[in-house]
Amino acid sequence: MQNLWSDEEATGKDDLDLLVYQSRLIGADSKLVVWGGGNTSMKLDEPDFRGRTRRVMRIKGSGSDMKSIERKHFPAVRLEDVLPLFVREGMSDEDMVAYLELCLTESGVPRPSIETLLHAFLPHNSVAHTHADAILSLTNSSRAAEVLGTVYGRDVAIVGYRRPGFLLSKEVAQAALGNPRAKGVVLMNHGLFTWGNTAKEAYDMHIELVSKAEEFSAKRAAGQSVFGGITGKWVDADRRSQVAAAVAPTLRGLMGQRQRMLLRFDDSKDVLDLVNAQRGKELSAIGPATPDHLIQTKRQPLWLDVDDPEDVTQVLRAMHEGVDAYANEYAAWFGQHRPEGVDMLDPYPRVVLLPGIGMWTTGRDMLANLITSDIYHHTIGVIGDAQASGDYMSLMPKDAYDAEYWPLELYKLTLAPPERDLARRVALVTGAANGIGRAIAQRLVAAGAHVIVTDVDIAAAQQVADELVAANGPERAIACQLDVTDEQAVAAAFRTARLTYGGLDIVVSNAGIARVGQIHELSLEDWQQSMDINATGHFLVSREAVKLLREQNTGGSIIFVGTKNVPSPGKEFGAYSASKAAEAQLARVLAIENGEFNIRVNIINPDAIFRGSNLWSPELRAGRAAAHGIKEDDLEDFYRQRNLLQLPVTGEDVAEAALLLAGDKFAKTTGAMIPVDGGLKDAFPR
Ligand code: ZN
Repeated sequence: MQNLWSDEEATGKDDLDLLVYQSRLIGADSKLVVWGGGNTSMKLDEPDFRGRTRRVMRIKGSGSDMKSIERKHFPAVRLEDVLPLFVREGMSDEDMVAYLELCLTESGVPRPSIETLLHAFLPHNSVAHTHADAILSLTNSSRAAEVLGTVYGRDVAIVGYRRPGFLLSKEVAQAALGNPRAKGVVLMNHGLFTWGNTAKEAYDMHIELVSKAEEFSAKRAAGQSVFGGITGKWVDADRRSQVAAAVAPTLRGLMGQRQRMLLRFDDSKDVLDLVNAQRGKELSAIGPATPDHLIQTKRQPLWLDVDDPEDVTQVLRAMHEGVDAYANEYAAWFGQHRPEGVDMLDPYPRVVLLPGIGMWTTGRDMLANLITSDIYHHTIGVIGDAQASGDYMSLMPKDAYDAEYWPLELYKLTLAPPERDLARRVALVTGAANGIGRAIAQRLVAAGAHVIVTDVDIAAAQQVADELVAANGPERAIACQLDVTDEQAVAAAFRTARLTYGGLDIVVSNAGIARVGQIHELSLEDWQQSMDINATGHFLVSREAVKLLREQNTGGSIIFVGTKNVPSPGKEFGAYSASKAAEAQLARVLAIENGEFNIRVNIINPDAIFRGSNLWSPELRAGRAAAHGIKEDDLEDFYRQRNLLQLPVTGEDVAEAALLLAGDKFAKTTGAMIPVDGGLKDAFPR
């Protein structure tokens, strides 16, 4: 492991900035900490609110991530109030948290880390703690004592597994003080503490000790097949994604029985090495590398047993049986350990392993999912390295229960803001690069959904998706090129949905064109193109949508963007009105055919959306102005004045209606046609 410290970058920094610098160096290496793991501290003199100099400890606040940590994420506790706790025999987590809050030097700062006392009881100025993969590879081994002795001799003190809290803090301090030669403390199934007079010293020692562990494991693993050799057949990449796409919605449906989840497919090399290995099933069932990971990954992944991973029917059967069995076993494990008054969390797996094909991780959104995925990649590495010199070991089931149902973690869950209307849902929107489609994509994301932004214009679609990701987080939107008249392209877009998110909940079929001309002058080409995009396009999109939603078996909402021309056609709009009428009939038949699957199909009829819309080409504007006998510049005013409310209608107005139809607020509405047109008497649906 590379030591990243640069004296040049560190010069001129005050103590707190050095702590930030040290923490970011640690956070930058995911082999040391992943996503919020680990913590660092610095003891220093600071003036208090009356100007008196006090010895305080700045420690990472709970909920911050080391790779992007800032000064404000390090609350300070007064050491004169904290240190007297050392003589106590014990202290509950709740008492400890409440006490530490009173030791803070400022109000309105993050809650100090749960490992605050551990840092405080060590006498050194700077303390660094990580859950380094290389350390876990040594501690999570059947031969841990021997291996740790070989690597470190008496250079580190060892502390047995115990959940973080008062007792662990005391034990670590006693181990460090009782062994003056110790350069660090290794915590079994948990991680490493190092210290120093300065941030640099503690960091240097951390890298030195972790590097020793890495070198040892690399030497032992050389030439070994740590997961027990390859078994079964190797499926090529194309076939892997075909199978994954075919089965993902079913899996998503099965795991979403209590609450919807997003699925993320992954067939990277380390995953395939594990799922294709002879001992893969047995090793993956042993448990997490450290309790810190358990909240995201649960204690065990679901392993799907199949003889032939390319046989989709067999895989689907294994999914049905496997998910049920997993939930039942989880409930039994919960029942064995549960104290009074604790409710069971979601009993479904967070990691699913399918031999030959790959892995799915699940999460309430793609960030949570990404965290689970990252952690499991590290788990695979730790299992492999631990296997190199013994047998991989994890926590006992009771310890795992205590970690997953730790009251402090459960308390954190209660602080989370309520989920938004479309949280955990995925939408695909066609024609989403501009106008109504873009407004709908943006509105759905704002309501919590993940969106596939499709359009023939991929550059413009990508820009919409990039903006949504920048404002809302990783993988909240992706762009996909889609010509809705191309059967293959439509299938490919839905395959993207299956592989990226595991399925869909909402489909907005919006892409359309408008051609003008009286019928006696209309070219066959204009007619045909109108039918291709405005009728056949909706057919192709909704056909794939219904297939997917039925497989997923969790209902769904399909929204067609129609037009006021369906109930109220206008002259020179023959091709447009006729093709959109076909769309409307298609939607109604879909509603009839799919009600029993709780798939709702509705139509929104907008009128005269000008802003941001590509529908209004210069020819269309000229044509409509001529048809109404007005000047082009007066067109917007004309449309506004002809509606009952005399208001302009925007893409955002249509998006609000789409939001209602997409979510549960309109759960009892299907086959409906909803005008968003400012009120047009002739276009009242009837
Ligand atoms: Zn820790």
